[in-house]
Amino acid sequence: SGTEGGTGSGEAARVLHRVFGYDTFRGEQQEIIEHVVGGGDALVLMPTGGGKSLCYQIPALVRPGVGVVVSPLIALMQDQVDALRALGVRAGFLNSTQFADERRETERAFLAGELDLLYLAPERLRTEATMRLLDQAKVSLFAIDEAHCVAQWGHDFRPDYLALSALHERWPDVPRIALTATATEATHAEIAKRLRLEDARHFVASFDRPNIQYRIDAKQDPKKQLLRLLREEHAGDAGIVYCLSRASVERTAEFLVREGIDAVPYHAGLDSGTRARNQSRFLREDGLVVVATIAFGMGIDKPDVRFVAHLDLPKSVEGYYQETGRAGRDGLPATAWLAYGLQDVVQQRKMIDTSEGDEAHRRRLATHLEAMLSLCETVACRRVRLLDYFGQHGAEPCGNCDTCLSPPETWDATVPAQKLLSTVVRLQRERRQKFGAGQLIDILMGRKTAKVIRFDHDRLSVFGIGADLSEVQWRGVVRQLLSQGLLAVEGEFGSLVLTDASAEVLGQRREVLLRREAERAKAPSGKAAA
Ligand code: ADP
Ligand code: ZN
Repeated sequence: SGTEGGTGSGEAARVLHRVFGYDTFRGEQQEIIEHVVGGGDALVLMPTGGGKSLCYQIPALVRPGVGVVVSPLIALMQDQVDALRALGVRAGFLNSTQFADERRETERAFLAGELDLLYLAPERLRTEATMRLLDQAKVSLFAIDEAHCVAQWGHDFRPDYLALSALHERWPDVPRIALTATATEATHAEIAKRLRLEDARHFVASFDRPNIQYRIDAKQDPKKQLLRLLREEHAGDAGIVYCLSRASVERTAEFLVREGIDAVPYHAGLDSGTRARNQSRFLREDGLVVVATIAFGMGIDKPDVRFVAHLDLPKSVEGYYQETGRAGRDGLPATAWLAYGLQDVVQQRKMIDTSEGDEAHRRRLATHLEAMLSLCETVACRRVRLLDYFGQHGAEPCGNCDTCLSPPETWDATVPAQKLLSTVVRLQRERRQKFGAGQLIDILMGRKTAKVIRFDHDRLSVFGIGADLSEVQWRGVVRQLLSQGLLAVEGEFGSLVLTDASAEVLGQRREVLLRREAERAKAPSGKAAA
């Protein structure tokens, strides 16, 4: 009733001040909290840094009983619980990293009604023992964090999450709140269905982060490009540089240190002491750069990260959005910069082809990669494309991304595309050969390399027909044809092969418009473009 709502809201505001020390709710927090305090189910989509935690922590403190939080981020549970305890909240966690006596003590506290919040790893909820434990005390709510993990079409699917649909059957009267920072419309719908949240109210915050300047450059000399970004635009700023592999994390961090930049590496292969030290330096210090694999950043809350740079292509738009979202949480200008090249596409295709899992899984990965590539190659506003992807349609061009600031020129690449595709045809049909991008470009440019001579490729009629374009331009053509599905990569050597759509180009039925490659990537802002 209205009176209860009023009381709940007054109580929630008091908890916000007294426990968390904040003056006002942010965005839709108050509405979400009142809804859950009142016993309603909720599905919350809010970008990273939006303030999701309070949406379940405050209801857990206001409602009688223990709030049970399901989270896949086991490594962070200790930190989350410590942070809550420092505020005087009675919190505990149960996961597989614990000693048996710690677990028993948490269970005892739970049963004795000495906890406000209990964090659980999802695999716990598959065991009947945990279910029985939860039966023996009063649960005030279930919070399902990182709820996109339940979606098989998402980029972060965890089978353990499927078992969470049972919560509703076993405890129909306990409100549930599912939260995620990454959800396309399809994932959003799948979360609601799989978690049986049919009657939940949906709270969808805007995914726009207007202070982040999105920029995607062709990869040429990535370390140099990165160094230019750091020196010319972000000298002395804290930031994160993401690389795909541990080895490239190490190499890049060493490179930056040699160039006089205060940088440390972070990846799962480092010992836990070094990891903890580098992470806490990043949080405490002003201008540290962390070079990391995507293992870094989950749950890290540093408001003044001024840039996030990607030296390798993220595997999905969701991942890209989540990682870049760690920049500029304080609302001040921040840069999200990504360098990507042909090699990224080839490498990721290869990883998908050789990945474990069934055909449907590989198709899913390929779909995610294609969406990421189309964001990279778009000639439209990056932000408009991102928001579209997350279901927010009809945004106006932002004026603060690379394509808005310096609109890419397009060029008609139909003829070069035909030359390239007919070279693939020649090799495939006449000689039953398949080659990677390097050999094809050598043939087109008319280079008599040892490998060209060994395979007699200088005798092909197409040899040298592409001498009018530079190597960079050819690599751009190949990359963009791949991203448009007009060419495909296959096998462990990254061979280029035709697709069904290739025929349309070869048969003059389709024009190919491409982004013009900058011979040298430039900063699009008014700042020194050197
Ligand atoms: P998310 O889980 O959505 O990424 P968090 O819950 O970690 O975001 O919140 C991000 C930051 O914002 C945290 O430092 C949090 O304390 C702070 N915050 C959340 N709500 C408020 C609020 N109402 N007022 C001030 N700060 C807030
Ligand atoms: Zn824009």
